Amino acid sequence: MRPVVISVAITGSVPRKADTPAVPVTPAEQIESTHEAYEVGASLVHIHVRNPDESSSSDPDLFAQVQEGIRKHCPDMIVQFSTGGRGRDPDARGSALYLMPDMASLSTGSVNFPNIVFENPPALVRSLAGDMQRHGIKPEIEVFDLSMIHATRSLIDEGLLDGTPHMQFVFGIKNALPAERPILELLVAEAKRVLGDFTWTAAAIGRHQAEVAKWAVDMGGHVRTGLEDNIRISRTELASSNAELVEIAARTIVDQGQKVATVSEARTLLGLPQGASR
Ligand code: ZN
Repeated sequence: MRPVVISVAITGSVPRKADTPAVPVTPAEQIESTHEAYEVGASLVHIHVRNPDESSSSDPDLFAQVQEGIRKHCPDMIVQFSTGGRGRDPDARGSALYLMPDMASLSTGSVNFPNIVFENPPALVRSLAGDMQRHGIKPEIEVFDLSMIHATRSLIDEGLLDGTPHMQFVFGIKNALPAERPILELLVAEAKRVLGDFTWTAAAIGRHQAEVAKWAVDMGGHVRTGLEDNIRISRTELASSNAELVEIAARTIVDQGQKVATVSEARTLLGLPQGASR
């Protein structure tokens, strides 16, 4: 049985309490929601923080509070900060990296989102990659388009990325890649051709979440779930928590004859040191 890593994206920048009361917004809510998700099999948490009015924030104090709480309650869990997200000042997107989470997301190119351009100009990508490298943070490369695989190769060639790259293939965002299995197959094949060794996770928005998780398990990848990407468990029913979505992902993994990775296995698979906190 292959251990499959479950990442949980607990909050994101889009869902509000008005959309679902289950989305954790304050640091205390985020810590509790992460702990519940950890207990049922999530080994990696992807974190955005929010201002009191629920808008996207880059405030390092909020990231610090969440990270501290998670390290206390889920001591070895892999902590990943988002450097993306809608509505953040580009210059502040890396401002919490000095807190040295295990990982941080890194988009290597720009893409259209439903109503905006998610802008990642080359200079910003290099500046964020350099900051991660300096702080010993492993990037998770967010791939919204084929060219982002090639941009990853450039970062490796420029000496800005160390070790085996970890890629996140993202589907189902309007105006970006649709959730179609041939596209995932193409991205995985192209990443293999261009990068050689790499690990990968796939994520999809809304109703595509469960289906893309199945493809990822089937194709040798890892799984991302969580309220950032999807707030429902059916067309009419809201998910009650991040943990409920993690349980669904865990069932998908087991139903396909694989096993949910422990945190220790996840750390090995992603080339991260064992144990937590630094
Ligand atoms: Zn995110």
